Amino acid sequence: MNIIYLIFFFAIVLNNFSFSQNLKTISNKNLQKNLEIFSKKNIDDWIKRYEFLHQNPELSFQEKNTSNLIAIQMKKLGFEVTENVGGFGVVSILKNGKGKTIMVRTDTDALPLLEKTNLSYASKTIAKDDKGNDTPVMHACGHDIHISVFLALAEFFAQNKNDWKGTLLMVAQPAEERGRGATQMLENGLFTKFPLPDMAFALHCNAQMQAGKVGFCSEYAFAGVDTIDILVNGMGGHGAAPHTTIDPVVISSQIVMGLQTIISREINPIDPAVITVGSLHCGTKHSIITDQAKLQLTVRAYKPETRNKIIEAIQRKAKYIALSANVPQEKLPEVIITNEKIPAVYNNPELTQKAINVAQEVLGKENVLKSDPVMIGEDFGLYGLTNEKIPICIFWLGTISPEKMQQNTPLPSLHSGNYAPEPRQSILTGVKVMGNVIGAMMNDK
Ligand SMILES: [Zn+2]
Ligand SMILES: [Zn+2]
Repeated sequence: MNIIYLIFFFAIVLNNFSFSQNLKTISNKNLQKNLEIFSKKNIDDWIKRYEFLHQNPELSFQEKNTSNLIAIQMKKLGFEVTENVGGFGVVSILKNGKGKTIMVRTDTDALPLLEKTNLSYASKTIAKDDKGNDTPVMHACGHDIHISVFLALAEFFAQNKNDWKGTLLMVAQPAEERGRGATQMLENGLFTKFPLPDMAFALHCNAQMQAGKVGFCSEYAFAGVDTIDILVNGMGGHGAAPHTTIDPVVISSQIVMGLQTIISREINPIDPAVITVGSLHCGTKHSIITDQAKLQLTVRAYKPETRNKIIEAIQRKAKYIALSANVPQEKLPEVIITNEKIPAVYNNPELTQKAINVAQEVLGKENVLKSDPVMIGEDFGLYGLTNEKIPICIFWLGTISPEKMQQNTPLPSLHSGNYAPEPRQSILTGVKVMGNVIGAMMNDK
């Protein structure tokens, strides 16, 4: 290494050092102490409320009672409450003197899924889905834990106003599972009709992490998601006379296989991406060659340019496979990119580092984990992608009891009917980390 490089090297090291020093967040000791006392006093009530929420889950776009419960509670606490923002969204504002405006978001919807946990407070709820069919409903993504933490924090900040200064913007967002809630709330004026936040925070339950721990992933944390339908048109006929038909079953099978080489041969191996064909439907009977097949895909990537490249490749593969099977121009496959799509979540690195500092201080370093990015989608990322470019940070909340962590059986994932978060430690940890992060950021210069 020559001297020029050496000087350059030290300049970089020193720069990094001063950079991380700048990120030293000032924690709010009073708030930390009072939040601890407040949590101990109220946790039993918070668990009762959690069990109620868990037993009364609502599907995406149907979160009427959940949002009503939140609105009533927030009004009681003295927040300015606006209901029905972008569907069943609830925006609650608490002003407490001059200072930063900090947004905290919870999602409120549940999933069409049968609960299999056998817990005393397991959900037995049945609801009508979009098509009018009965479906069991379960909070299998832990949004009921999120709401519980959110309401507990609202109580604390409303009843301990001496410990902080600024404005709290608490956002209860519907329809996260359908990727629409954040879009709808933003389209409905979340950032124009209400105080514009300086930053936004959220947490998400983690089904593989022990309760009492949290996990952070700086920069890209959740993938962008596209939901795509492909309609493959053929020309039906008798199964005994395939030469007189154009068989969409064979064409769609070739498309499924053709899609497999997009990620493996066209995308940079160090740039994560997924194409999954989750459903393929066609035909009615053994001896009938059908007219049409329908494929349903989920496509995931972090970078917008990667996502665009994949979509172009899907369109290209579908078109040329169909052409090679002699499908006429006017009947080429239709690749429909539905509006169930969300961009990737990008956690602002500086804000994330500040939150990590606070979490390490209040939980101990051993309880603050570095998490890998996941290919799951989360529409929270949208709050950081408006013109205002607000820094955002979402972190993982461990929810599994130590006993279950030690068992040698695989843990059920999120969206499983067996997912059973341990409420006490999960809620306490969520409140502790989120509460102290907000407190510290309100103080931060
Ligand atoms: Zn989910
Ligand atoms: Zn979720």
